[in-house]
Amino acid sequence: MNNFQYIKFRIKNLLSPSFRCPICRYRGPFQTARPGHALRRRHALCPKCGSSERQRVQWLIMQELSSAYTFREKSLLHFAPESIFRSEFRKLFAQVTTTDLAMPDVDVKADICRLPFANASFDVVFLSHVLEHVKEDRRAMCEVRRVLRSQGIAIVEAPITREKTIEYDCPNIHEFGHVRNTGPDYYDRFTDLFRLMKKYTSEDFPHKFQPYIYCNWTRFPTPESPLRQPMPGLRHPIMVAVYFV
Ligand SMILES: [Zn+2]
Repeated sequence: MNNFQYIKFRIKNLLSPSFRCPICRYRGPFQTARPGHALRRRHALCPKCGSSERQRVQWLIMQELSSAYTFREKSLLHFAPESIFRSEFRKLFAQVTTTDLAMPDVDVKADICRLPFANASFDVVFLSHVLEHVKEDRRAMCEVRRVLRSQGIAIVEAPITREKTIEYDCPNIHEFGHVRNTGPDYYDRFTDLFRLMKKYTSEDFPHKFQPYIYCNWTRFPTPESPLRQPMPGLRHPIMVAVYFV
């Protein structure tokens, strides 16, 4: 957003609630995300750095873990690297490797189910909104565990959009190719691979950072998303799992 667009945005949102972005320190109203009518999300995006709800939650978690686990001395494997985190993670970690199967500008092109890295190659793995695209999610998480060193950490997020996880027969093109619809129980699938799991939710963070998804999910199921559940409420918590080796 350029200066002129930003002034227009502030005038239009004089009465909107004010938030704070933990990534770029912006203070003020956030923008509505409009990826499609059904998915319109209020107070979603920071107008300065473009951070989304989940990215602010993930950033707050990374900040909390950073000092306890001395990230500045550690190596990170970053899957499907979000542009907003690329430079920030390079400042946070001693070494960063980006990877993805489809994205062109990554360090290593790789399938998460067959990673081309030796055992115990990394200290931290960051994996956001990847597993909901992977049918063999168990195999993927076994690979994540395999490439982590002892004392390693995996930060994992999948979109939580129903009460209990269900698998789809085939990827739903109307849901970005997701192969399942994920509930809070999803993260429990992988606890046996790790020593410990800690779940963070939006409720763990101050409201000033706007860590929730404000979206109307009562309209489901729809013809495009026949297996989505109607979810009551105006706002929905984000959930992130941190697995400890
Ligand atoms: Zn920001």
